[in-house]
Amino acid sequence: MRTLQVKKLAASRLKKGYPALEEYDFKTLDQTTEGELVRIVDQQNNFIGKGYLGKENRSVGWMLTLDKEEEIDSVFYDRHFRIARDIRSAFYADTSTTAFRVFNADGDGIGGITVDYYDGFYIFSWYNKGIYSYRDQIYQAFKVAIPDFKGIVEKVRFKNAQIESQHIDGEVPPEPLMIKENGIQYATYINEGWMTGIFLDQRNIRRKLMEEWGAGKTILNTFSYTGAFSVAAAMGGAVKTVNVDAANRSKAKTIEQFEVNGLNPDDHEIRVIDVFDYLDYAKKHDLKFDLIILDPPTFARTKKRTFSVEKDYVGLVREVLEILADDGILIASTNTWKLSRDDFYQMVNEAFDEENVDAYLMDEYGLPEDFKINENYVESNYLKVMVLEKLKD
Ligand code: SAH
Repeated sequence: MRTLQVKKLAASRLKKGYPALEEYDFKTLDQTTEGELVRIVDQQNNFIGKGYLGKENRSVGWMLTLDKEEEIDSVFYDRHFRIARDIRSAFYADTSTTAFRVFNADGDGIGGITVDYYDGFYIFSWYNKGIYSYRDQIYQAFKVAIPDFKGIVEKVRFKNAQIESQHIDGEVPPEPLMIKENGIQYATYINEGWMTGIFLDQRNIRRKLMEEWGAGKTILNTFSYTGAFSVAAAMGGAVKTVNVDAANRSKAKTIEQFEVNGLNPDDHEIRVIDVFDYLDYAKKHDLKFDLIILDPPTFARTKKRTFSVEKDYVGLVREVLEILADDGILIASTNTWKLSRDDFYQMVNEAFDEENVDAYLMDEYGLPEDFKINENYVESNYLKVMVLEKLKD
């Protein structure tokens, strides 16, 4: 195993449990082999820990252990999966929610892999080539730790991967695979692509929409994808939702999500259109909404435009403020790791400021409990959701 020396400041944070290895931690990081296991030492050559190299976003690898004696072998992986499963026993026991995250990368001790549970099926997502080179060993360990799976599917999420998605073991998941979340049904598709039809990390927002925010409201759900937020709000008594997404596939999928819950999709609008075009239309027709949801992707290219959170979020909030009713609620969400909570707060604040609209921050959310966070790496809490109530002039 190669020994790599890190700079002074990197050494101190790694000793404290910071899990990510970053390029500037090293004086030189010549020849990096994806998946190479490395010993990390400080400037005095004292042992800090062991990790692996794998390029992912801003990191070049992940620490795996600070224990000199610990080997990175099947026993290591097996133990991590067991612990991860055990701390989620309440999720396994809850029959009203049958989809959740079982293993959350560095939050559960191994950066680069996440595992989601979908009603007995397990979806592995691999975020760098390095960890993917251990996949056989890791699947083997997983099957020993959690033998009662219906099936295993993998998503390969790093650049230049040969495949996006493939079946690994057990049964092939049915299409759709029905899951439940707080009693609501969602149709998911887990055999193709990276996206399944639902983003599990927004569970707490859907719950609040159902239990509290949705009742009696007219709702605009922008970047609505399969309409999951709208379905939750409608189950909680929303009068009407307008779902706006530029992707053709979104229409049929949204209809399906309403129908599987016994809701009539005709009571709602499902529009396949660019959000910015819809906002122009809504302004022109003087539409007003009691609640507006903004949950765009970090970056998207549609036929007409490219959208990026950093460049366009302020403008987006400004536009929707014009069609938000007095006392209306805005749910502003982003999942980009590139913005800190404070950066995002600044951007939302700037939009209210520029529009000269008064509001207060009612509530704020990050990742739910199953998306376990590494306390030494708060940056991994990528989800930021701000719930704002508009105040009358
Ligand atoms: N908020 C959703 C997830 C959004 S996923 C949920 O919680 O379920 C991002 C969605 O934004 C995709 O469905 C994509 O088609 C859509 N999208 C991206 N750019 C868009 C644009 N300019 N106008 C409309 N939809 C867009």
